[in-house]
Parts: sequence; structure tokens; C-alpha cells
Amino acid sequence: MTFRYIEVLLDVPLPPLDYVLPKGESASVGERVVVPLGARRKDVGIIVRVKDDTTVPEGKLRQAAKVFHDIVPLSSEWLSFTCFAADYYVKPWGEAAVPALPLFFRSTPKKLYEKSLERLRALHIKPVKPIERVCLNEEQQAAVEAVISSEGYASFLLFGVTGSGKTEVYLHIIEQTLKKFPQGQVLLLVPEINLTPQLEARVRGRFVDDLVVTMHSGLTPNERAKSWLAVHEGRARVIVGTRMAVMTSFRSLKLVIVDEEHDQSYKAGEGLRFSARDLAVKRALDNEAACVLGSATPSLETWAKAQSGAYKLLRLTHRAVRSAALPSMELIDVSHQKPRVFAPEIKQAIDEALGRAEQVLVFINRRGYAPVITCTSCGWVSRCLHCSGFTVFHKVDQTLVCHHCGSVYRVPERCPSCGNPEIVAVGTGTQRIEEGIEALWPQARVLRIDRDSVRTKNAAETAFESVHAGDVDIIVGTQMIAKGHDFKRVSLVVVLNADAQLLSPSVRAEEHLFATLLQVAGRAGRDKVAGRVMIQTRFPTHPIYADMQAQNYEGFAARLLKDRKEAFAPPYSYQALLTAQSSSLERTLGFLRRAKQAALALNVEGVAVYDPVPMTLMRLKDAERGQLLIESLRRPQRQKFLKSFDEVLRSGFEGYSSVSWAIEVDPTDV
Ligand code: ADP
Ligand code: ZN
Ligand code: ZN
Repeated sequence: MTFRYIEVLLDVPLPPLDYVLPKGESASVGERVVVPLGARRKDVGIIVRVKDDTTVPEGKLRQAAKVFHDIVPLSSEWLSFTCFAADYYVKPWGEAAVPALPLFFRSTPKKLYEKSLERLRALHIKPVKPIERVCLNEEQQAAVEAVISSEGYASFLLFGVTGSGKTEVYLHIIEQTLKKFPQGQVLLLVPEINLTPQLEARVRGRFVDDLVVTMHSGLTPNERAKSWLAVHEGRARVIVGTRMAVMTSFRSLKLVIVDEEHDQSYKAGEGLRFSARDLAVKRALDNEAACVLGSATPSLETWAKAQSGAYKLLRLTHRAVRSAALPSMELIDVSHQKPRVFAPEIKQAIDEALGRAEQVLVFINRRGYAPVITCTSCGWVSRCLHCSGFTVFHKVDQTLVCHHCGSVYRVPERCPSCGNPEIVAVGTGTQRIEEGIEALWPQARVLRIDRDSVRTKNAAETAFESVHAGDVDIIVGTQMIAKGHDFKRVSLVVVLNADAQLLSPSVRAEEHLFATLLQVAGRAGRDKVAGRVMIQTRFPTHPIYADMQAQNYEGFAARLLKDRKEAFAPPYSYQALLTAQSSSLERTLGFLRRAKQAALALNVEGVAVYDPVPMTLMRLKDAERGQLLIESLRRPQRQKFLKSFDEVLRSGFEGYSSVSWAIEVDPTDV
């Protein structure tokens, strides 16, 4: 039976549009189609319905140009998943679904299209050296069995201390799943592109007979299309990827794993502002697959679900390598010391570690030389002309850089305000620490790893390899060195300036700091040498450090959850943020005040609307930014509210057409 009309999803803020099929052309739901749009656009869209009649009048109805029958149609699971994601994150369906396809499959076909498609299909298993699988310990074994014996959808939190062998557990679960389902596919999400090579190698080495593909922003459009097609057509069995991979179309998804599930990089900051971790759970549910979230420091949302039993809790309580114990944690109180880079105890510990030819990792979460430069006479400080932040002094290339917008400025020879030639750098960043270390330990081989020193994925890989190979004695770095890496020779981890984050106004500052500290501490003593962690702080009595020293995540989480419950904060409430920006703060806030009135007029029960406020970083790239927080104790009410609110906002407020806005659901940095 052939139908005459189709409904087509396009990358525009509109519901699916009706088109008439060319005579004799067949079409199915999930196929791609080229259609005319507006005066001269031709776009590729996705057919979401085929039907016999239409309400669009004959004269207005346009004809589709071409239906693609070249790949398997997108599944109804994928269509309903993208529809769900669009609704949940308050975006038009088309704008959520179409951009999730690789460029190749959503561009109007070029010459030699068939040839190109053929080339995309030619993706083969890479011959690699097989990696032996290790024998699991009892806890690991129990975790694997719990997941494998589950039927249909089930979610698990694999709560394992750093170095407890979570990755080994994933690999065993993947192996069993691939065995149990001969056509089955596995999605393994990792937070960071820099972690993919190490994991990819481990996965390829373990599944030498299966097609393993990666999906992340470092791939070329062609590589991405190849990976995507292999997953869509069911040829790829394992997909290792960053957050974008959760939007892939699968043939037969049987297992979803989210490594380091607490990581903030799972949250997309633009376009469809989704949480890949949350959508991963949804995909597992829709596909009746198992879902494993792994972390040493779970997000409070996930921890609360594990406590309530919604997720089954699996524990790994000790390190997997028998010789490796959890590192000892020491707080170095510098509140009464005169400021200097390293406290004497830390200096001595570094001396000792170097003396034993062990590696030292120095963590400071700030890149550049110094966060600001200032005039000693009038107090002038270096600021970005386009943002409301300071500019960071980069000594290496003698520049002042704005870390928010990337603007680069020359270092002035004299104070631009009073002419004083004495301008000094205040505070420390990775470059200054590197310089200090080189002065103190001239014989040591020092490697700085931050976004300035390794700008590409390859550079990062090379840097990490030299650490693994033992070509480095002291590593200085930011967040980049904190996550996931299995450094076998690091015995001492030094944390500088953790206090900065304690002073942050964000509700989640403590949660994030705890995770970062435990992660970075987890790089110490992962193999034969004992690990030691030294945290330099001016607030040694802050409760976070007591839990930190005891490596007591559970106590820490219980304390925070209690606070959150009392404050009706997430995960006990559901938030959304309306953010707005324009060239004037007055206009931005005026818009948000109108939005608040409109929100209150909607009169949705159980939804609280706060007052508009400027964002913490008020000006970014010359845009003046503000936000409006919305909160509800019930998720369905928040969703109902957001749907109407979005409609109101889309219809616009008079006099505010120059204000742009976005809705963020479940914001994480409020
Ligand atoms: P996590 O992901 O929990 O930090 P990994 O999976 O990276 O931990 O494991 C840490 C180290 O322990 C790795 O070098 C890994 O090869 C090793 N390992 C894991 N499980 C076992 C085991 N059962 N027996 C021996 N070594 C193991
Ligand atoms: Zn001055
Ligand atoms: Zn700037």
C-alpha cells in the first residue's frame, strides 16, 4: 500500500511539516527525505508519519524531492527517544533530532553520493594485539553477576573507590552481554575525549573479533559518519564515546555504561542542553537494557536513587591491585604561614619521592601564570574588555588572556591607569608552579599538562604516554590530569589552592570539589608504591576535609543530602533556568522581569519563580547576561509549566526582540 503524504521533521523550530510524495515514490517512517523549505532552501528531513490525507490546503502543499532508501530507516525507538528528549529539554523535536544525525546524512546529496556511502560502509575491525582478561576479585565478580543476571531494564550504580577495577567490571559485563546477545550492542560513555584513547585501546584489545567504534567531537565528519552508520546498521558491537554518543541510532542496544557518571562534561552547554547520563538511563529503559553508572564519587542525584533502591547499589570497597592500598591523606595547614608555593612539609615529601625515583603529581585547578596582574601604586587590575572577568597572565607567551572568551591582550609596559611601571602578577596558576618547581628541583623532568600546553587530542595522548613511560618526574596540571588515568608510578599527589572552590557561591561547589579531590587523590599509589596525598589549605577545619581525609564519600553525601532536603534543593526539587542576554544589562533584566510576570500569570500550581539576577559572570563576549530560576517539588508540574512558558517566550515580549534566551532543564551550576 502506498501513501500520498508524509510528515517531515526538519531542523527548524516548527512541528513536523506535511509534504506530498512524488508519483510512484514510496516512503516509510524513519527514512530521510529532501524537501523544499521556504523560498529556496532544500533540506534533508526525517519522515515521522506516512498518511492518506492532510489538512494542508492543496495549493499550499509542496512536493518532496527525493526519498532515500539507502540505509535502514531510523527506528521508532530512536524517533520516540528524540521526541522525549526534545520535550524534556523544551526544544522543538526537529531541532533535537535532525542535528543528532552526522552531517553526511543530513546534507543534500552531492555528486558521487552512492560512492561516498559505499566508502562510509567500508569500516573494518582494526587488527590489534589481544589483551588478556584478568581474573576478577569477589566484589567485582558479584557486580558482574548482578548485572548479567538482570532481565530487561535495570539500573545499577557501580560505586567503587578509585583503582577498584571498575573498568575491568565494565569489560566483563560487555563480554557477557555480547555473548548473550549475538546481535546486541553496547554503549560505553566516557566523560572526556582525552580518556577515549586509553579506554578504546583496552576495549579493542579485549574484543578483537568485534567492531569497536568511537564517537566524539575529535572525529572528522567522515569518521563520525562511518562510526554512526556502523552502529545504525548493527555492524558495530561496541561504541565508546563522549556525551554525543547517547544520541546515536542503535540496532539492538543491550547495555549502557556511563563511566564517571558524576562528571559535569556529560551536560551539554548549548543546542539541546541534555544530560547524557540521564538520557543514557532513558535509552536503557526504552531498549529494555541494563544500565550501569560507575563512579567513586557519584552525583547526589544518583546516590539518592541508589539509596532509595531505584538503582541497585554495587560496591567495590578496595583497590584491585593487591599491593595498592588507598592513599593516605594529609592536610597541610598554611593559614599561619607566609604565602609561598609549597609548604616545607610538601617540599620535603617531593624531595623524598624524587629520591626514590617515584613520580609526583601537582594539581592546581587554574591554568596560566597568575590569575591577574595589578598595579602596585593605584590598584589597577587587568580585565577583559568584553567580559566581566579578569584576564590571566600567561608568562610563556607574555600575554593576558581572558579564559571566558579567549581574547588575548598585550601585557602593558606601564599601568594603563596611572603610568606606574611596576605591575605585578598576583596569585598562582600552572605556569607559575611549573616555574617554581624548575627552580627548586632543577634536575627533575617537569611536564605541565593543561589546555595551553596540550591543545590537541594527539598532544594530550603524547603527554600522557610520556607519563606512563616514566619520562617525567613531576607532572603539573589542571582537571585534565585528575580524571580516570591509570598512572602506575605516581606515589605523591599534591593539591594546591583547593580553597578557591570552597569560596565559590555555587550550591554545588562542595559536591564538585569533593569529587575533584577524591579523583585526583585517586591517581596516587595505584600500583606497587604506596600513595600519599597532601592538600594545602587555609581552612583545615572545613567539614569537607574531614570526610575527605577519611575518604568517606557516604558520610559526605549523607550530610549534603540532608542539607539539600532541608533547603528543598535538588535532588529533592526540580529546577530550570531561563537565561537571557543582550547588549544592555537593564534590557536583559527587564526581559527577565517580564518573563517572571508571564510565568506567574500561567498560574501552574506548585511552581516557584525566583527573582531575575545577573549571572555570576555577568558579561560574556559583550553580552550582558541574567537568569531566572524556576523550581518545583514535582517533575511533572515543572514540565507542564515549561511547556507553556516556552510558548509564551516564543511569542515574544514587545520591546525585547533583541534579547536572546534559552531554557536549561536540571541546571547544574546554579
Ligand atoms: P578504576 O576504573 O576503578 O579506577 P581500573 O579498572 O582502571 O580502576 O583498575 C585499576 C588497576 O587495577 C588497573 O591497572 C587494572 O588493570 C587493575 N585491576 C583491575 N581489576 C583487577 C583484578 N581483578 N586483578 C588484578 N588487577 C586488576
Ligand atoms: Zn596604576
Ligand atoms: Zn573575555
